[in-house]
Amino acid sequence: MSDLSKRLAAVRLSIAAAAARSGRSPDDVELVAVSKAHPPEALQEAIAEGQCLFGESRIQEARAKIPLLPGRARWHFIGHLQKNKIRQALPLFERFHGIDSMEVACDLDRISAEAGARPRILLEVNVAGESTKFGFAPDALEGVFEELLGLERVFIDGLMCLPPPVRRPEEARKYFVALRTLRDRLQTRFATPLPELSMGMSEDFAVAIEEGATMVRVGSAIFGDRRGKMWKPEQSPVFED
Ligand SMILES: *Cc1c(COP(=O)(O)O)cnc(C)c1O
Repeated sequence: MSDLSKRLAAVRLSIAAAAARSGRSPDDVELVAVSKAHPPEALQEAIAEGQCLFGESRIQEARAKIPLLPGRARWHFIGHLQKNKIRQALPLFERFHGIDSMEVACDLDRISAEAGARPRILLEVNVAGESTKFGFAPDALEGVFEELLGLERVFIDGLMCLPPPVRRPEEARKYFVALRTLRDRLQTRFATPLPELSMGMSEDFAVAIEEGATMVRVGSAIFGDRRGKMWKPEQSPVFED
């Protein structure tokens, strides 16, 4: 067994255990393998182990990487979406996790109409109120939610958060609770289903699942440390189905 296979197996076990603790099936939690900075060879290994859903956070990198991998791979965009990259991003990704402002949502909606796309999106909430972070402030989101629901092309079915780094996973619990609570409130107040909660990364995905995550975005726990790594398209082979 390769290191990657072992790490992936360990992540799957932790997901199953955490799902059981929250009274759910492991199938209720989707694992998004965050492959940014890693070469297609590593993703191919994950695909061979049955992991076909990947998260990327840079459009340029994804545009180069996606065509090198077999058609079984599915892609979510998990980063901040820049307006000038939306057109290129639309055909590549089946979901956008980090829709973090009214402006981005409106741009995505308009360009989707022009491109004939209907993307699924998650709204990013700045749960810790960090001034340096993207995302809707929880109160502000309630104020503009009606308007967001009125957008014609984007399909909103949940929320996402990227809390500040913590020393112990347990410290992140309050942020996950805050996201779930906000989701519950929006669902009731606007009578619209928001089943998806994208929360939890390598360090804290088990706690996020205990608090209701339906998607976890896990990078280094699967692919290893990415510090100092930066994949460039030149050296990579093309894989076939
Ligand atoms: C990089 C990234 C992740 C994965 O982080 P790890 O700590 O490596 O699991 C998850 N979510 C977002 C938005 C990211 O940018």
